[in-house]
Amino acid sequence: MRFHKSETSFFILIVFLGGVGIMLYRARTALDMLLPISVDSDVTALIRYVIEANSLAALFLIAALLCGIFLIYPLIRIQAQDHGKLQEMTQILSARSESLAQAALTDGLTGMQNRRYFDEALKEYLAQFGRINKPVGLMILDLDHFKSINDTYGHDVGDAVLRAVARCLKDYTRYHDVVARLGGEEFAVVAPNMDKDLLAKLADRIRKAISELNITIEDAQLKVTTSIGVAVWDRRESWQEFYRRADKLLYNAKNLGRDRVCV
Ligand code: GH3
Ligand code: MG
Ligand code: MG
Repeated sequence: MRFHKSETSFFILIVFLGGVGIMLYRARTALDMLLPISVDSDVTALIRYVIEANSLAALFLIAALLCGIFLIYPLIRIQAQDHGKLQEMTQILSARSESLAQAALTDGLTGMQNRRYFDEALKEYLAQFGRINKPVGLMILDLDHFKSINDTYGHDVGDAVLRAVARCLKDYTRYHDVVARLGGEEFAVVAPNMDKDLLAKLADRIRKAISELNITIEDAQLKVTTSIGVAVWDRRESWQEFYRRADKLLYNAKNLGRDRVCV
């Protein structure tokens, strides 16, 4: 059983009071021994007076001890229990709000970052990498004819494809890249510190890797392709303008026949 600080302090107080009680008892015994041998009546009267005061002090002490043990201690105990319960609840609440905050930024299906996280991260990356004069690249990916996968194989298979694409994106990116599912079958990668050529090469490796994914359903092998728009921040445009430019390039890739990268 663990005691609260206030309970421990109370026990220490009781021990001190007990000590005072013992001292009073010893003083009284000593005075009792003195009484028969004293002859001087003034000294006898003084000793009697001290014994009476001693008895009164002992009475007060017993009253204080009883009051402490039966009135004050139960109150301290209740307060300590309430304090413990409150502390436990605070811990549970703060753990829950942490997991809620985490959930608010994570995509439930793939476990990737979500749109909300992506918007904040893109803003932050442009501010931070702009300050140290480093490039920031952005890729927007959209799976091709994904609706027909859902229509042909069902929504669960569609979900499995989205998870496989998410794993592939994680495998091909670095730890400081932001990889997010923007919604539906659309993903984005924010890749700092890469020039246009490197970024285009990375985007094409990702496109190829997705097209080579083997998703097996019963006996059939399912294939999926992606169109990707790639842009490097021009250092003047806002994060929304930058995003729109990359998105426009994605739709160029779609219009040019899909399964390709437009830079
Ligand atoms: P395009 O090549 O032009 O991009 O064609 P598309 O079929 O991929 O695009 P469209 O926007 O017509 O269809 C997107 C589909 O994505 C429609 C919707 O049912 C599906 N989808 C969106 N979110 C989810 C999801 O969480 N799970 C599954 N399985 N499907 C989803
Ligand atoms: Mg699509
Ligand atoms: Mg789409």
